[in-house]
Amino acid sequence: MREFPMPDLPADGALLRVEVAGICGTDVKMYAKPMVTAPVIMGHENVGTIVAAGPQFVERQGLGEGDRVFVEHYVACYQCEWCRLGEYRHCEATDWRTNPDARRYGYTTCENPYHLWGGFAQFMYLPWNCVIHKLPDNVSEEEAGIITPLSNGIEWALHDAHVGFMSTVLIQGPGQQGLSQVVACRQAGASLIIVTGTTRDAARLELAQTLGADHTIDVEQDDALDRVLELTGGAGVDVVLDCTAGAGTTPVLLGIDALKRRAGTLLVQGEIDRFDGFPLKKLTEKAITVKSARGHSYRAVELAIEQLASKRFPLDLLTTHRFGLEEADRAIKAVGGEVDRDVIHVSLLPWLD
Ligand SMILES: [Zn+2]
Ligand SMILES: [Zn+2]
Repeated sequence: MREFPMPDLPADGALLRVEVAGICGTDVKMYAKPMVTAPVIMGHENVGTIVAAGPQFVERQGLGEGDRVFVEHYVACYQCEWCRLGEYRHCEATDWRTNPDARRYGYTTCENPYHLWGGFAQFMYLPWNCVIHKLPDNVSEEEAGIITPLSNGIEWALHDAHVGFMSTVLIQGPGQQGLSQVVACRQAGASLIIVTGTTRDAARLELAQTLGADHTIDVEQDDALDRVLELTGGAGVDVVLDCTAGAGTTPVLLGIDALKRRAGTLLVQGEIDRFDGFPLKKLTEKAITVKSARGHSYRAVELAIEQLASKRFPLDLLTTHRFGLEEADRAIKAVGGEVDRDVIHVSLLPWLD
């Protein structure tokens, strides 16, 4: 635990009282092996209320004191081509991998001015160029904590892989990300949604069905490829979405085989660096399109918020665990499956006693 003085707000800055910081698989990886070596306040899926805002901030954002907002972890330049398109995720000003001076919540070191660059804290600093979304009154802060996986679901399944009316989809992995894809695909009109998981995932696979999956496969009990072919009358699926963690090369290899004969789409996570035996020839012969899972656009976040506000799906079933700030270590380990296997989405509530 570390304390910082409250920031002296400039005219174009604001202060957020953090209500919920969602935790995801990336946090588990970052915590085990930090990607940034300088001290970082983690927490990149943040929801809160603006408690102070300078006049220029209010003028630029159209939001100010008292507004409840979801804060994207990207901090935009608002000048480049990507920012003009609402694709802040691709902006170089927020790309910590290529730009040492980049700003991104949960990744930017707290040694930078204003210090409060992460959601595992009671307050967060908002510059004029943060990317924020106002929350509807009927969406609770904890529900808003799943905006990020839901936006990713919309971005990857709908915008990237073009799931739509009568699509057939295989979603690998029933964690918060996989379950969010189920909701996005269901809403979009997919005719067949199959979700894979392991025996330990039994409760999550059941929830997948509650949220609209047509079939689930326990890959330890059944041959996943045989099952997919059986469920599709031998045809294979239109789209495969990889939402697994730590499953090695299996999801890619299964994905290529489970796709239909021609022109399917495979969404990959690229968790492993490289591997021998990648079936490039088969991929080419099947005319597969490969898409990369890479965050979310502004539009996807707006759609995720609308989806939550519609209450069409019992998305509150995803928010299974909550921890206070003192328990951040346990909270991250919970997401990593070290505390309780029934964990789906974990909220860190910095003001929880
Ligand atoms: Zn995340
Ligand atoms: Zn930009």
